[in-house]
Amino acid sequence: MLKELFINVCILVTFLFIGGILFKKYPYIETVKQKLLFGFLTGLLGSLLMFFSIQLAPGIIMDFRHFAILLATLYGGAIPAIVSLIIILVNRILFINASSFTITIVLIVFLIVTIGAVYIGNCKTTDLKKWMAMVGFSMFLLTGMFFLLLGSTKEIYKLMVIYWTISVTAGLLVFLFANYIYQSNKAYLEMKQQSTTDFLTGLNNVRQFDAVFNSLLEQGRQMDQKLTLLMIDIDHFKTVNDTYGHAAGDEILRQVGELLRLYTRSHDIISRNGGEEFTVLLPDCVHSSAVYLAERLRFAVEQHCFVLPDLSEANITISVGVATYLETVYSAEHLLKQADDALYKAKFSGRNKVCSSVSA
Ligand code: GH3
Ligand code: MG
Ligand code: MG
Repeated sequence: MLKELFINVCILVTFLFIGGILFKKYPYIETVKQKLLFGFLTGLLGSLLMFFSIQLAPGIIMDFRHFAILLATLYGGAIPAIVSLIIILVNRILFINASSFTITIVLIVFLIVTIGAVYIGNCKTTDLKKWMAMVGFSMFLLTGMFFLLLGSTKEIYKLMVIYWTISVTAGLLVFLFANYIYQSNKAYLEMKQQSTTDFLTGLNNVRQFDAVFNSLLEQGRQMDQKLTLLMIDIDHFKTVNDTYGHAAGDEILRQVGELLRLYTRSHDIISRNGGEEFTVLLPDCVHSSAVYLAERLRFAVEQHCFVLPDLSEANITISVGVATYLETVYSAEHLLKQADDALYKAKFSGRNKVCSSVSA
């Protein structure tokens, strides 16, 4: 008995490790696709656990397959739990010969285990408490099931004591592993996001801009593809801060970020490169279209009424420099410099302007 249950624990731990790698980028199982996939995988896990079960009597087996359903519920909710339950029950019926009475009891017990786990999973408490409540609830039902199927003999009582002891220990161990993997994947994702995102606007930060800029330039070089860079700077932002306050300045930066998102294509790369300076990278975009877009952006900012935290309103303008690799500049290294020069020209010639590097 100990051997089979030990194998079950080893399978669970291996699954958690592999699952942790597979879901490294998606610690929050949110989309329906992710939930279905998670349900499918936990269903396979439950079925695998079942094939290493202890045969107590013909057609009556004991294992930790319910842990698979509980894991599906704790980290994915009702959908993975139901998918997992269906897969496990189908495999139970197909591959383990048992009387129709046994099958019916197993179906009912596992259905109640799943419903109870989903209910516990929705309670407002810590994951550890939810998990232990799920384990306790399922063990209670499974114990009842074994007594019903095997009778309440002295042997079964002894068996149940061992089953409970190992289950509670294994349950804690599985939670420790699962929680460790979940928390470290969450921390990995958060740190990755923080290291690439500007906290104020949610746009790329300068580090991410650099990485994307270099890779797009490389792609442009290899595929002879154009790449346009818009360099954007808010006009007289120091005066804006002095007039409305720093918090209002922050709000304006945030809203400029939203306008940039609104006016660009989904695959354009928008970054806040520092202070009140933004950039937009337009892959595969010809210079004339980029100048047109920059003009639309400039006009949109000029027309936009910026509502500030104290509900007062402000207006600002921007200056934009535009340069295009393989059109206005043929060396990738000079793209940044040309866009910067064009921006300088826009500033120098009166601000609230778009200047192209063609004439820079
Ligand atoms: P110009 O038209 O020549 O660009 O003038 P400017 O005042 O916009 O340029 P300057 O470089 O002199 O000033 C930039 C200002 O941006 C100064 C700084 O206080 C402000 N700033 C930089 N980062 C932030 C920020 O995160 N929040 C706010 N509110 N202000 C910022
Ligand atoms: Mg400025
Ligand atoms: Mg500036």
